[in-house]
Amino acid sequence: MSPSSRRKAAVYVRISLDRTGERLGVERQLEDCRALADRLGWTVAATYDDNDLSAYSGKIRPGFEALLDAIKRGDVDAVVCWHPDRLYRKLSDLVRLLDVADGVAIRTVTAGDLDLSTSSGRMMASILGSVSAAEVEHKSERQRRAFSQMAQLGKPKWRRAFGYLDDTHQPDPTTAPLVCEAYASILAGGSISDIVRQWNSSGHYGLTGKPWTPTTMSLFLRNPRNAGLRAHRGEIVGLGTWPGLVSEDTWRAAQTILTAPGRGPGRKSVRRHLLTGMLTCGKCGGNQMAGKQTLDKAIVYGCKQCHGVSIRAEFIEPFVYELIAGRLAMPDAVALLEAEQDEADVEMLRTQRATLLARLDDIADERADGLLTGAQAKRATDRITEQIRALEVQAHDAEKARVFDGLPLGSDDVAAAVQCLSPDRVRAILGVLAELVIAPVGKGHRGTDGARFDPKRIQVVWK
Ligand SMILES: [Zn+2]
Repeated sequence: MSPSSRRKAAVYVRISLDRTGERLGVERQLEDCRALADRLGWTVAATYDDNDLSAYSGKIRPGFEALLDAIKRGDVDAVVCWHPDRLYRKLSDLVRLLDVADGVAIRTVTAGDLDLSTSSGRMMASILGSVSAAEVEHKSERQRRAFSQMAQLGKPKWRRAFGYLDDTHQPDPTTAPLVCEAYASILAGGSISDIVRQWNSSGHYGLTGKPWTPTTMSLFLRNPRNAGLRAHRGEIVGLGTWPGLVSEDTWRAAQTILTAPGRGPGRKSVRRHLLTGMLTCGKCGGNQMAGKQTLDKAIVYGCKQCHGVSIRAEFIEPFVYELIAGRLAMPDAVALLEAEQDEADVEMLRTQRATLLARLDDIADERADGLLTGAQAKRATDRITEQIRALEVQAHDAEKARVFDGLPLGSDDVAAAVQCLSPDRVRAILGVLAELVIAPVGKGHRGTDGARFDPKRIQVVWK
């Protein structure tokens, strides 16, 4: 239909027992929706409502079903609702809507247009319908039940914990700052093993009196207690009565990193050498250069793909430190931080990503429950994966700010600071700054495995 012709709109309203619903009755939603349709010059052709049914309860919503039918029949070509979360809560509902809503205009009173014909519009739709609030509400009933149980139990279930003073449940002035630093380090690209090494070498063992291991550290950092959150059977059930060592945002952001694929608890880092995976082979273009120890105990990075290029760690590693220090000491290095310092943006990206990841879990659940067909699940998964990729590109910029955290950029002091960084941090910084391409040894050096260092072999491609 041409955009100038009058749209036949369906108004859809729903009231449930959640927070928004309590504030805003179905009548008020109706009023707002009709007013919006009026402003848009749309005719309200039908009104559908569902009352007092949670969109999560799994119960059929007759109004929603009737709306889908009306769209399918072509009776309406526009939908007005109060907020996307009135329209759909479960992913399977959004998918069903996407299936029939091609060319259908969707307007919401509180969140603007939903354009389901573009990937960015679908992304907005899935985020708007699902923002963490909804995800939380999803579990809220179970949470309330669990919380009341916990409340009856009264005190927190733990007695002693690293980072807290015994019995008082107040932060320990000595160890609490270490815990903060550990989370900051994870967010800055540091590894669990680095934290383990630092704590063990400074004698800050766990409460058992034993040195930390990557497994115990991973479990510790995943404990919601550190953010002042109370957990019950592995689920967060509410705020604890004790102060958090880090903010909930920090803790949640760290969980996203800690639970990323390949970061399971206790999984050992496969990367043992500083620059494994960080160097590009100048012969075949692969970035499979990995370190290994030779018979004479020297560490050499060699291309695992073509085996045609190698370089000794004793040459390349100091080069990397100098390169990073040199770049970060430049007066304009401060500008590296500027574009990405908006913490709110970073937080928003992280929340969106976490929400989308949660959605992927939901798809799996809903597929398992038979709510989605295989094809629907695949389509939804593809869409969300595409959205996550887009977010990750944006997040890459935001992460830059993290890797430079606490470094005296633009000053000569930065060299000393860089020397103290953990290997993971150095890798993270190098990854943001530059790509290093290692050329094969020139003719004059053949047979000596580049035993003499020729800096011209290293090409620096600044990012
Ligand atoms: Zn190669």
